[in-house]
Amino acid sequence: DVQAYPGPGEPPCVVVGGGLAGSLMAIYMARRGHPVEVYEARPDMRRLQVDRGRSINLALSTRGLHALAAVGLEDEVRQMCIPMHGRMIHPMEGEPHLQPYGRAGQYINSISRQGLNELLMNTAEARDQVRFHFDIPCVDVDLDEGVAHFDDREKGERVVREASILIGADGAYSAVRQRLQRSGRYNYEQAYLSHGYKELSIPAGPQGKYLIEKNALHIWPRHDFMLIALPNLDATFTVTLFMAFEGATSFEALKTPADVEAFFKREFPDAYALMPTLTDDFFANPTGSLVTIRCAPYHHGERVMILGDAAHAVVPFYGQGMNAAFEDCFVLNELLEREDGDVGRAIAAFSRERKDDADAIGHLALYNYFEMRSAVASPYFVFRKKIERVLHRLFPEWWIPLYTMVTFTNMPYALARERAARQDRLLTLGLGAAAALACVTLAALMMGVLG
Ligand code: FAD
Repeated sequence: DVQAYPGPGEPPCVVVGGGLAGSLMAIYMARRGHPVEVYEARPDMRRLQVDRGRSINLALSTRGLHALAAVGLEDEVRQMCIPMHGRMIHPMEGEPHLQPYGRAGQYINSISRQGLNELLMNTAEARDQVRFHFDIPCVDVDLDEGVAHFDDREKGERVVREASILIGADGAYSAVRQRLQRSGRYNYEQAYLSHGYKELSIPAGPQGKYLIEKNALHIWPRHDFMLIALPNLDATFTVTLFMAFEGATSFEALKTPADVEAFFKREFPDAYALMPTLTDDFFANPTGSLVTIRCAPYHHGERVMILGDAAHAVVPFYGQGMNAAFEDCFVLNELLEREDGDVGRAIAAFSRERKDDADAIGHLALYNYFEMRSAVASPYFVFRKKIERVLHRLFPEWWIPLYTMVTFTNMPYALARERAARQDRLLTLGLGAAAALACVTLAALMMGVLG
């Protein structure tokens, strides 16, 4: 039987998944005056360590901060952040050098996933009308009735909950979305990269010093694979190796500790010198896969919807998955406001208005893998970026680099992508014209000299 909500009035808002998006959405809904029940499949991370090797830290930027600021959390969150002003490129030969992300004062932030998730859960739980339930996965949803079924593992019982609004924030492998996929005429596609990732670490130095530049996102671009490192507050770095699963240079090819040591010594000698636990980490941590998910619509009927990775998982190369998930929460709240609290209309509008933006960031994130592992090492790429920075300084409204639009503004992703494509064509044309002019001038000069 469906368990009636014990309180008076409407059934609660039921949030499936107490991750980043689910916990933030719980805060938004509680602030709107709804009772909120959050069901999380895993144990409470504040009591038990739940994951190993699953993106320990993340890059938080303007969109995410904006959504957090709207519930009064910006100051607290900023204290947990380490600003990263640019990409510190570690070439095969030569010294590391910094490529700034934007103008002075524009930076992204390294933040602990667990720390942020805990802050969101604590903030949500501090409100009387919010309750979290752990170790209770959603196993089914009645889409038309807005009823969710959960498996209470400890009690060995099925819990059935009616919702006034049922929000699936249960990540890339969402149970709520899987139920949507079985409804009529549902669009769904998933694509895995042939590359995966593995988390490693650089420890703190003596007296808690950072062993490499603290305020940067470090990249060792090697074309077919790359290593990156983000700083943590305890002066360690979380290091991630992105590489093909199979092939000559791949995770599969690194079978023994000696293989791993030789590979790191050859490809990332400066990082290798700072990684005493390399082989232990390498064989203890899982190799994660990277998936892009596109689906439509994001809602069903009057009460059921999905957001965050459940609706649009993206590969991590733009550092936007969490930011987009937080932006979803902000947008949904705005739509509920716009539609006067009418859930049916708000979630239908969310499906309509969010899809193009989610698709756009999915595409941009895929492209950015090439940029990070390869293009950043090319002099032509660096040259174009410099010209873009100059154009942006001269015409700040008219010319905005793509990275700036995505990372440092709240401009809809789809619009940013469109504008960037236009700018790219213009720049290519301009550079082509400049090169042609230079050739003609040179030829004329030479003819003058020779003639
Ligand atoms: P999740 O964080 O996956 O949370 C889903 C929650 O639902 C989990 O707690 C899960 O246990 C729970 N759950 C799952 N199934 C069920 C069920 N059946 N019932 C109940 N609960 C369930 N994004 C950035 O913005 N910046 C970055 O720098 C960045 N780096 C990344 C690096 C890597 C290697 C990866 C893999 C991702 C990265 N991301 C980054 C993306 C980011 O992690 C995700 O976009 C973000 O976690 C999405 O939040 P979410 O709440 O939608 O999903």
